Amino acid sequence: MTSQDKVPATPPTDPAGRPLPQFADPAPLAAHGPARVIALCNQKGGVGKTTTTINLAAALAGYGRRVLVVDFDPQGAASVGLGFSPHELDRTVYNLLMERNAVIGDVIRPTGVENVDLLPANIDLSAAEVQLVGEVARESILSRVLRPAEDLYDVILVDCQPSLGLLTVNALTAAHGVLIPLECEFFALRGVALLIETVEKVRDRLNPRLEVDGILATMYDPRTLHSREVIARVHEAFGDQLLHTVIGRTVKFPDSSVAAEPITTYAPNHPGALAYLQLARELVARGDAA
Ligand code: ADP
Ligand code: MG
Repeated sequence: MTSQDKVPATPPTDPAGRPLPQFADPAPLAAHGPARVIALCNQKGGVGKTTTTINLAAALAGYGRRVLVVDFDPQGAASVGLGFSPHELDRTVYNLLMERNAVIGDVIRPTGVENVDLLPANIDLSAAEVQLVGEVARESILSRVLRPAEDLYDVILVDCQPSLGLLTVNALTAAHGVLIPLECEFFALRGVALLIETVEKVRDRLNPRLEVDGILATMYDPRTLHSREVIARVHEAFGDQLLHTVIGRTVKFPDSSVAAEPITTYAPNHPGALAYLQLARELVARGDAA
């Protein structure tokens, strides 16, 4: 017996101090669809919505899931991040929202990532918010647009714009679940109560199936007391809605978006890539993704 044998192994914990489960690799799927629609929402900008959309899509695709990314922000960052330049897109989600006869299959583009397709957006979408106001069932238009694609994918990720306006309400009305990226910064929690209130209103009035899938802490820096305090506060306020997986702060994310690639292919062994793979496994284990 060596001295090492006597030291009990400390079980791994997450940054909130909870035991960290081992999330199994998702079982292969025999068939695809119908998709679960997940909206990535936070009315604050720069919290990691688009980064999470792209990298979670790539991670789920790496586990054999067919994923559609819906860029639902007029900034078009998800489209750019997946390799498309906004002004070259002749048809976008905007056309599908505004033209009753537009066909989603004509607008969806394959991306450089196997099993990830994109429904692109560009600045045209900024006009939709105003133009949709007068429409009948204006909150359910994205839901209607996505329906013909739902059988082709296992997961549809909707990258929302940083607001709680009509576009975001459309995303929430189309969704089964909401994933809330939250930057590990002071004031991060401000606004989350309002966001959850909006989710509850949409659930009551428009979309009874809608649930909060989880809160994902992003840009976490374990060296700062500050980051750890934010995690503790979020855990205190939201309990197990805080996911075990936490995304660390690293320049590899901006680097990989400059390269227009997910981190899972840009730097596959980087802790940031491993974190998004763990997020994919955690969501599948929670039943939030196929
Ligand atoms: P949002 O879509 O919420 O506005 P983004 O995903 O575009 O946020 O992220 C905002 C900026 O922060 C981008 O430049 C992105 O590359 C960077 N970023 C995102 N996640 C991280 C992270 N974990 N660490 C460091 N930088 C990040
Ligand atoms: Mg964004």
